[in-house]
Amino acid sequence: MSDNDKEYQGTDQKKENTFEDICFVCRRPESKAGRMYRLPNNICICEDCMHRTMDAVSQFDYNNLLGNPTLMNELNMNNLFGGRGDFASGIPNSQRVKKSDPNAKENRIDLKDIPAPHKIKASLDEYVIGQEKAKKVISVAVYNHYKRVATDSMDDIEIEKSNILMIGPTGSGKTYLVKTLARLLNVPLAIADATSLTEAGYIGDDIESVISKLLAAAGNDVSRAEQGIVFIDEIDKIAKKKSTTARDVSGESVQQGMLKLLEGAEVEVPVGANSKNAMVPLATVNTRNILFICGGAFPDLEDIIKNRLTKSSSIGFNAELKDKYDKDTDILAKVTTEDLKKFGMIPEFLGRLPIICSLKGLDKEALIQILKEPKNAILKQYQKLLALDEVDLEFDDGALEAIADKALERDTGARALRSIIEDIMLDIMYEIPKDDNIGRVVLTREYIEGVGGPRIEMRSQTGPMHYISENNQKTASNIE
Ligand code: ADP
Repeated sequence: MSDNDKEYQGTDQKKENTFEDICFVCRRPESKAGRMYRLPNNICICEDCMHRTMDAVSQFDYNNLLGNPTLMNELNMNNLFGGRGDFASGIPNSQRVKKSDPNAKENRIDLKDIPAPHKIKASLDEYVIGQEKAKKVISVAVYNHYKRVATDSMDDIEIEKSNILMIGPTGSGKTYLVKTLARLLNVPLAIADATSLTEAGYIGDDIESVISKLLAAAGNDVSRAEQGIVFIDEIDKIAKKKSTTARDVSGESVQQGMLKLLEGAEVEVPVGANSKNAMVPLATVNTRNILFICGGAFPDLEDIIKNRLTKSSSIGFNAELKDKYDKDTDILAKVTTEDLKKFGMIPEFLGRLPIICSLKGLDKEALIQILKEPKNAILKQYQKLLALDEVDLEFDDGALEAIADKALERDTGARALRSIIEDIMLDIMYEIPKDDNIGRVVLTREYIEGVGGPRIEMRSQTGPMHYISENNQKTASNIE
């Protein structure tokens, strides 16, 4: 072999290592098109093109072909699909549906197992601060819903489905409430964002993809998914658009598309994937017993309610009334379906969400409570982390107020709390483990506002939990 040849061969080998595979059909490289199927003769096909091809093939009657092992062997299907065996010898577990239990009746929720509304609310109270009305409404609605599921249909009187619409500013705890609820009831929960949903056939997720998510949350167990909860956030973003010139594929049509899901229908959903294609198995899920909770901030709704209220009252006192309503912090509680229709929700959609509950914006006091009271409060989490280093962490009242003030400035409700605390705690978590003698750290308003250091108390030599007296406190200047 000449030197030239050797060199050529060398570059060829290099080529193999350093060059990306390219899809034989669409010509996109591996980095763009994702995983490739390697076919004989060094042909690569990306997953998309493979799916499209399979879609086309599925029009053809290849059932006979698959049923005929000799023919399959001849065609060497396994080899054709790169020896992965996805096609011919089974599919991954994430795409497999659990076998339905012949004793399905026993699987059904038992009436005795459903906690009474006051018990549901008491459990919610441990985690969710304030929002008393919303917690009460939801506890009753959920109780009734699961009663309906447990009894299935009671003779002639069929209990109607009680889907819920939750209205409240960002960070007021809508998602948190639903998450807590699903955990307490031990039912699968899927959370979807209405903004990503579009009418089937357009770019974005199909409306039915929320049921796919629920199925995944239920461990691909259809009967469990059928008793789950679906939370659709940002529902106000699919209000009817004001201008009607363009086709509204992500607004009104999504509301239309959701109607049958909300009411109860048999839907065919892809298992373990977001979109339907020939490589993904489909499962049929009945949404009749799935509880749908829709949530949104509905930004201009307050004005609509105020306008209605001022208009409906007698003429002459308008200015006074407007003042009164402007100061009302719980104006959302006065919402009616008329207001929501004005906002852009279609009547059929609202008709399928018979229970409306509103959440209040959180005030300073509530924010302070959220910091320290819930079972898994952020402060408790940090205290636990530092307790592992045998250090006591404390926030004095001034510090808590300063944190709440900062959060209020950001206007994103309780959502701001975590990022503020994380900012504050970074230095503490970094510096404290440096010195084994530190026994207690007290964070003050000055520290939160960036004008002073935390109060550090040292451990006395005699034991880990004895602190030196107040006079001997040391302020750690390095922790500012
Ligand atoms: P949204 O109303 O925008 O859905 P979230 O429920 O996502 O708000 O709230 C964000 C975070 O704020 C939650 O993860 C939770 O930790 C905290 N939070 C919000 N409201 C409350 C509340 N009422 N009680 C306790 N924690 C809350």
